[in-house]
Amino acid sequence: MCSVGGPTDIDLPPDRVTAKDYRCKECGERFKGIGKRPMCPSCQSEDVTEL
Ligand SMILES: [Zn+2]
Repeated sequence: MCSVGGPTDIDLPPDRVTAKDYRCKECGERFKGIGKRPMCPSCQSEDVTEL
């Protein structure tokens, strides 16, 4: 097997996934959320606000 001469691309996620602080409007839980629509870990509500 001949190598093609280049590393194959590893499927790395972009280094832009940073957790932000959110607070749930339903139960007041504060948590770290990732993504556009984080979900409250306590009550699973998506009605959260970014801090
Ligand atoms: Zn909640």
